[in-house]
Amino acid sequence: MRTGVDSTDYSDDVLDVQLGIKKYKCLDCGNTFNGAGKTVVCPSCHSSNVVLK
Ligand SMILES: [Zn+2]
Repeated sequence: MRTGVDSTDYSDDVLDVQLGIKKYKCLDCGNTFNGAGKTVVCPSCHSSNVVLK
């Protein structure tokens, strides 16, 4: 059993970068989320009116 000291929380950002995941913000509803790929849509309102944070 692991003790939990090797939590991956600290490496989330690094992992995201390696996977090509970037942070986006939806201009329509203000939702912020992680997205990847050429076509990113807001998971909340499905708008494509999003910008990189
Ligand atoms: Zn939205």
